[in-house]
Amino acid sequence: MEKLLNYIDGELQEPVSGNFIENINPATGEAYALIPDSDENDVNLAVEAANKASESWSTTTVQERSEWMLKIAEIIDANADTLALVETNDTGKPINLSKTVDIPRAAANMRFFATAILHTTDNAHITNQQAINYTKRHPLGVVGCISPWNLPLYLFTWKIAPALATGNTVIAKPSELTPATAFLFSKICKEVGLPKGVLNIVHGYGDKAGAAIVSHEDVNAISFTGGTATGSKIASVCAPSFKKVSLELGGKNPFVVFDDCNLENTVETAVRASFSNQGQICLCGSRILVHESCYESFKNAFLAKTKELKIGDPLVPFIDVGAVISNNHSEKILSYIDLAIKEGGKILTGGNKTQVEGRCTKGNFITPTIIENLSANCRVNQEEIFGPVVSLMKFKDEKEAITLANDSKYGLAASVWTNDINKANRVSSAIKCGIVWVNCWMLRDLRTPFGGMKQSGLGREGGEEALRFFTEPQNICIQTGS
Ligand code: NAD
Repeated sequence: MEKLLNYIDGELQEPVSGNFIENINPATGEAYALIPDSDENDVNLAVEAANKASESWSTTTVQERSEWMLKIAEIIDANADTLALVETNDTGKPINLSKTVDIPRAAANMRFFATAILHTTDNAHITNQQAINYTKRHPLGVVGCISPWNLPLYLFTWKIAPALATGNTVIAKPSELTPATAFLFSKICKEVGLPKGVLNIVHGYGDKAGAAIVSHEDVNAISFTGGTATGSKIASVCAPSFKKVSLELGGKNPFVVFDDCNLENTVETAVRASFSNQGQICLCGSRILVHESCYESFKNAFLAKTKELKIGDPLVPFIDVGAVISNNHSEKILSYIDLAIKEGGKILTGGNKTQVEGRCTKGNFITPTIIENLSANCRVNQEEIFGPVVSLMKFKDEKEAITLANDSKYGLAASVWTNDINKANRVSSAIKCGIVWVNCWMLRDLRTPFGGMKQSGLGREGGEEALRFFTEPQNICIQTGS
């Protein structure tokens, strides 16, 4: 079996312990590679290398850093098909999704931050003809970037790119469930000759390798994307030493349908927002709130479109729904479907595991599932399932729609559907979510602040927010008058 390696101090290396973890293809259920089971010894080596590289990397010009990152983006593009194939084998997601979303976005992340740093301005304040104050933004030094399995290279680069662009050196850890594209990324960094120690990639379990990155005293900031429970643990480790943290966490996103929307567009997007990547996108709409006057027509059209989705081998180009990430995750999703029935829900379609013939008989495939009749406060409507399961609820007016949308400990993203611009404006501002899409879903502009309110996170990524997170502002005041 192929052995993936850590990338430390510019070299691909085995973990100090010599221990490896099996990497499983979720569509076939078979182990097909081994990944380092790294621990604090590997993290210590990575931090040492990053510390050593920090001074020279932080003093390179923005043009130099930009050029390194653009070269990496070019190689991602040149190897897009291979990377997409590897991403699909690691995640079980349809190959079409890897090709059109994951890999292009990874290259876009590198390009976006590589060029953003060429266009930033620094603030200055003239103080009553007495002084000039200017704000200098310093890199933080060594930073940690920890990412999840659902959009592996996409989210890995989303963190690494702004961290490197602003002059930090990085210890990055991809999810132990989806390490393969991060490993290829380390090979790309070697190929372009990125200076040693600037980026270090340590593979392994979260509570071992991840925890060692978070608690290392020379790691000055943690940018984390993952579950809310893990985010809370990380925050508690970072708090005593005031380590800077950015947390992008879970969601239970409302998708709000008013009766004056364009029903056809709404239904089409609702299917995408519910079941893309098997519902394993933090931004997926999982609570679908529909005005009572169009509830039946929406429901019928939504059901019909959902039943058209093709589930199967993710390597087949026309497949819409692939495998969920793991046995454990499949069990978790199915347990929520059982719970939905106990909580009084009616399964309108799906609700079970299905077997895909051929090489995928041992994969974890769950049919897209729509449930109705659940109360707003039941567990299925309150807890993040992170699978192809959505719940339909009715509302009678705008006020109730807002109340239901906000009835969650999470506040990541919402989608609102109406042709009334004033209503769109009112409802969007009243919904407590970091992102509200109106008449669209997951339409992204990398310049916008990205992140969640309430238990969906702390801080924002994207554009200037990310450049600010990875730098420390310093006010320098020069007296000019006598
Ligand atoms: P997870 O929290 O289990 O793991 C995320 C990463 O953290 C992995 O690399 C894991 O190894 C590591 N980790 C686990 N425990 C750790 C610890 N104690 N210290 C340091 N690192 C640790 O999440 P997951 O299951 O990989 O991802 C799914 C979750 O991610 C969902 O809740 C989803 O909503 C969320 N997510 C959020 C966003 C967002 O932008 N808000 C995006 C994608 C996914």
